[in-house]
Amino acid sequence: MQHFDVAIIGLGPAGAALARQLAGSLNVIALDKKQRDGNKGFKKPCGGLLAPDAQRAFIRAGITLPVQVMADPQIFSVRTVDVQSAIERNYQRCYLNIDRHAFDLWMKSLIPPSVTVHHDALCRKIWREDGLWHLVFSAEGQETQITCRYLVGADGANSMVRRVLYPGHEIRQYVALQQWFKDRHPAPFYSCIFDNTTTDCYAWSISKDGYFIFGGAFAPKHSRENFAALKTRLESVNFHFGEALKSEKCTVLCPSHWSDFVCGKENAFLIGEAAGFISASSLEGISYALDSAEILSGILCAAPKDACAVYRRKTLGLRVKLLGKIVKNKCLTTPWLRRLIMQSGIANIPLTPEGQSKQAEA
Ligand SMILES: Cc1cc2nc3c(=O)[nH]c(=O)nc-3n(C[C@H](O)[C@H](O)[C@H](O)COP(=O)(O)OP(=O)(O)OC[C@H]3O[C@@H](n4cnc5c(N)ncnc54)[C@H](O)[C@@H]3O)c2cc1C
Repeated sequence: MQHFDVAIIGLGPAGAALARQLAGSLNVIALDKKQRDGNKGFKKPCGGLLAPDAQRAFIRAGITLPVQVMADPQIFSVRTVDVQSAIERNYQRCYLNIDRHAFDLWMKSLIPPSVTVHHDALCRKIWREDGLWHLVFSAEGQETQITCRYLVGADGANSMVRRVLYPGHEIRQYVALQQWFKDRHPAPFYSCIFDNTTTDCYAWSISKDGYFIFGGAFAPKHSRENFAALKTRLESVNFHFGEALKSEKCTVLCPSHWSDFVCGKENAFLIGEAAGFISASSLEGISYALDSAEILSGILCAAPKDACAVYRRKTLGLRVKLLGKIVKNKCLTTPWLRRLIMQSGIANIPLTPEGQSKQAEA
């Protein structure tokens, strides 16, 4: 049975960043459900917007984004719609519009060959025995068992590692539904939609490479009906849908308490969304995935005595920031408070007559 210093489960942004940063320092194995390249197999449903904090993680790592990861066009504002009170505002946002699957594959391609990577692989079983972590995974039609000193759960919202470490632990979660349409709006735009009659979270739209992506986070009960109802309500404010070319569905975490964030124990660590590190107000998670990977890589390379305690301490700032997002989520999803904020006009960028006519056409 092969033994490794570190086993990373999941190569989304969190796991891929960590594998890249540990390469050369430790003996690392990384397992990922996605295929190495191409358009087949598992793809993470996502809006594909790279927030400034994620851009900062790339600045720190000295990495620039290749053009094949970028989507068209780049948009500078978010049309924010409160459906119930019919208020609309335009807020500036400095997101990069990216092709999420191309981004994930590119991040995996940055992992140096010294890391043993299994693509199209599924971790099936994890347990602790004799002070080591054991795991069984299937890849290329066979099951393999390995051991490792450090185990890292970078396996996203439905993290198997989190379920093994914290069996009874529940983080508030929604069903994220997304559909892709041919974009029939004359002017591309991003939107952020609040409508408490269909969801107590929020919905969004993104124009990307000729497609119009519409998605939202809904309570599990009646999620599809509420998604359809919201689409109908938005048609009256000039959203055009037509025939859905692709439908996607997955779980998205939306932390609501400090205790929702879990860092790991007994030489097992959680990074990215597996740890509950995702913004409750925007559901933006790539930056927290990159930041938590960066924190953990520094710790594992230094190999301190109680690495889990050090990781917990060093992620305190990140968790406090995410707590702020929980407070922001409460403000934005409370109808009267949201109305007050939007009516105040704070940070709104009013449209010129030219901008208004473009939006009216849309
Ligand atoms: C609909 C939707 C839209 C979103 N839009 C945005 C956005 O625009 N911008 C943003 O910043 N965030 C967005 N998010 C959040 C963001 O996608 C996640 O927070 C982010 O991807 C978390 O990164 P991660 O690496 O922790 O996990 P993930 O990206 O989920 O990666 C986990 C990986 O683990 C692998 N995996 C899981 N289980 C196993 C297993 N048992 N064995 C092997 N491999 C496994 C999978 O291959 C997966 O790729 C969105 C989320 C959703 C659901």
